[in-house]
Amino acid sequence: MAGGSALDDLRAEASAFVDEHWDLDLTLGEWWERLARSGLGFPTWPEQWFGRGLGADALSALSELFRARRVVGAPGGLGQMMGGPVLMRHGNADQQQRHLWPLASGAESWCQFFSEPGSGSDLASAQTRAVRDGDEWVVNGQKVWTSGARTADRGMLLARVDMDAPKHRGLGYFIIPVEQPGIEIRPLKQMTGDAHFNEVFFTDARVADADLVGRPGDGWAAAVTTLAFERSGRAGVVGVPIAQGTGVRRRDLRQRKLGELVERDRVFAVAPQDARNPGPSGPLSPVSLIVEPGANRTDPLRQQVVRYYVQSRVNSMTQQRARADVAAGRGAGPASSITKLARSVATRMNRDLGPAILGAAGMLVGSQAPHGGAIAHATLQAPSTSIAGGTDEVQHNILGERVLGLPREPQVDRDVPFRELKVGTVRAEATKGNTKEER
Ligand SMILES: Cc1cc2nc3c(=O)[nH]c(=O)nc-3n(C[C@H](O)[C@H](O)[C@H](O)COP(=O)(O)OP(=O)(O)OC[C@H]3O[C@@H](n4cnc5c(N)ncnc54)[C@H](O)[C@@H]3O)c2cc1C
Repeated sequence: MAGGSALDDLRAEASAFVDEHWDLDLTLGEWWERLARSGLGFPTWPEQWFGRGLGADALSALSELFRARRVVGAPGGLGQMMGGPVLMRHGNADQQQRHLWPLASGAESWCQFFSEPGSGSDLASAQTRAVRDGDEWVVNGQKVWTSGARTADRGMLLARVDMDAPKHRGLGYFIIPVEQPGIEIRPLKQMTGDAHFNEVFFTDARVADADLVGRPGDGWAAAVTTLAFERSGRAGVVGVPIAQGTGVRRRDLRQRKLGELVERDRVFAVAPQDARNPGPSGPLSPVSLIVEPGANRTDPLRQQVVRYYVQSRVNSMTQQRARADVAAGRGAGPASSITKLARSVATRMNRDLGPAILGAAGMLVGSQAPHGGAIAHATLQAPSTSIAGGTDEVQHNILGERVLGLPREPQVDRDVPFRELKVGTVRAEATKGNTKEER
């Protein structure tokens, strides 16, 4: 953690950086590269990898400053939030050298090929296989709920490399290029109308052995680290959101001028997803909505908004603790599970407050609706917070076992060779007397 005056110095340095470098004539890519070289975009990353080796308080302080100065923050996404930090811990020097700059400079975005139709909460039962072929691995299987796969350059892939090892010990963790003939991506439409995630089919897809993170069979450790980073939140400094259509590739977005991406000299565009977890401030927070002209301001609603405000403030402090734990190498501690659960609570409060404050108008979607339909969008998207990155029930289990010391869930399959297990879709097919293995 940086002390008070160290944080003040950091703020002063970042402010001077913005004065010198923020220019609407730059492309987004040029801005992100400058930010990455300064170490201010990812302050919790080590100095050797485009960061400063600072704590979560520095990240929060810089995010606050970037938002106040109305400048775009560091590139976000799953690669930056999870992939880069995982490589710093589990990757080798070559992988760090090749992959960390494209992430820090926003040249690449990554997706997460973890969940499968028969393997979500029980992630270690993944059945997608990777078989070694010389300097490469050949991948076959299916993933599902893969956010952003259509615009991703690479994916963090969990695949089974050893059928004879127990399920946690036979997994490989790969960084696989997405644009290749062996990978087919089919969008899944959600009730929001977006197709944010996808099902992904691997048919003899290829990934270099050089992109196997850790040793074959050690993938579970990297997967657990990935989830810890996912639950504790983003890695880079947050600025004002940029207007960004869904389905735009990062490399195309990088070519655009900052002046085209932000509304010149005025309010920056707000993406609909920013309404889902708006936090205590910001234009889409219930705290802001309730003071708008025409808003419902009954006493019970005002009290609920205050409760929401308190919950959001507490959440952001807990999130700082979780990030500090993860940054200090303490792994997926209970704080990251508490953060995830607290975010679910705040999302549900926000889901109910937005429409209650706006009244019927809060149900409208489309650009003519209040706030471009972002409030109705947030209502429809709210359930996802309790599922993505591990469900609320799974977080309760973690807290029950690791904090309260309750008996562990029975795990009869922990030491059984994977080949002998009847799990997920294998189990479903086995009931028909026709397992995948038998075919
Ligand atoms: C918005 C969103 C984005 C996502 N993005 C990605 C992505 O990019 N990449 C990716 O790989 N996945 C992604 N996912 C998938 C997500 O990780 C899984 O949906 C999640 O882990 C749950 O798995 P499942 O859907 O298979 O549910 P299941 O595991 O089948 O669970 C079904 C229900 O059973 C409960 N349950 C299961 N096991 C237990 C237990 N042991 N104790 C108590 N209750 C239990 C669960 O809590 C849940 O309510 C995303 C999901 C969402 C909603």
